[in-house]
Amino acid sequence: AYDVLVVGGGPAGAAAAIYAARKGIRTGVVAERFGGQVSDTMAIENFISVKATDGPKLVAGLEQHVLDYDVDLMKTQKAVRVEKKDLIEVELENGAVLKSKTIVLATGARWREMNVPGEQEYKNKGVAYCPHCDGPLFKGKKTAVIGGGNSGIEAAIDLAGLVEHVTVLEFSDTLRADDVLVKKAKSLPNVTIITEAQTTEVLGNEEHVTGLQYTDRKTGESQTLELAGIFVQIGLVPNSEFLKDTIELTERGEVVIDSHGRTSMEGVFAAGDVTNVPYKQIIISMGAGATAALGAFDHLIRN
Ligand code: FAD
Repeated sequence: AYDVLVVGGGPAGAAAAIYAARKGIRTGVVAERFGGQVSDTMAIENFISVKATDGPKLVAGLEQHVLDYDVDLMKTQKAVRVEKKDLIEVELENGAVLKSKTIVLATGARWREMNVPGEQEYKNKGVAYCPHCDGPLFKGKKTAVIGGGNSGIEAAIDLAGLVEHVTVLEFSDTLRADDVLVKKAKSLPNVTIITEAQTTEVLGNEEHVTGLQYTDRKTGESQTLELAGIFVQIGLVPNSEFLKDTIELTERGEVVIDSHGRTSMEGVFAAGDVTNVPYKQIIISMGAGATAALGAFDHLIRN
């Protein structure tokens, strides 16, 4: 059995693993995709003390740092159940059951979907969620970005350098992105921003996306845009479905933690984007991972 088993291999999980391993206790990490959201990130300029880096570089650094310690790293393994018996059990999708005295949940979050007709059908055929991964596929073509928050406007700025034209569709009457991003997007000649637009359908020709339909909420009229790609940027969903029957979650599915990273299940700690922390960032999730590991260590020496 492990002393600390970390579920998730993003910045929160990596930090938790390193902090635990540095205590000389038996530490494991199970991760569906090591690196987490950082793997999908290009420019990172807010990782304090490193002026600029990118996702793949940071992920390589995380992995090297984790493997510098005596940590069992189990990649491409998904946890499907957490249950408290004598020890805490984590069941994997492949049926294996791992046991540990304490757990740190660091399963992060993923992009929210639009839930309109055509979205599922045209996923990877024009409907995309990661501009950094799929942007180049739409070189010279027309695209849309759904959502006018930071991620939507960042995506629009990013895509504008690759594609022919980007239309941003925002549901409400104002953009929620930071001013500096909005200014930048508005300064680009091939970016159009439409507010009060509700996307209603993804259009396609069976093979790939050909456009989208939206309702102009000012007039109630339905409008059509001809496009090759649609980038959906409307928020993050915590990866906590497998915890919903066992651990307290918020309405939005975030794991509820206290200042020590404790969850509602004794011996189970959590950190990062999967939790109810207000801000979701790399440096914040790393700090939270460290807190959760120290919380777990504290728990171990008291029990
Ligand atoms: P994640 O990075 O989401 O990692 C979760 C981990 O858990 C992954 O390894 C995943 O595979 C694993 N996992 C999930 N479910 C399971 C399961 N059931 N079993 C096992 N493993 C599981 N932040 C910044 O600070 N600066 C930026 O510039 C920045 N840019 C971003 C750009 C993009 C495109 C994205 C998507 C995010 C960006 N962020 C940025 C946010 C930052 O990436 C996240 O806040 C951070 O990665 C959260 O870390 P985490 O470890 O909590 O979760």
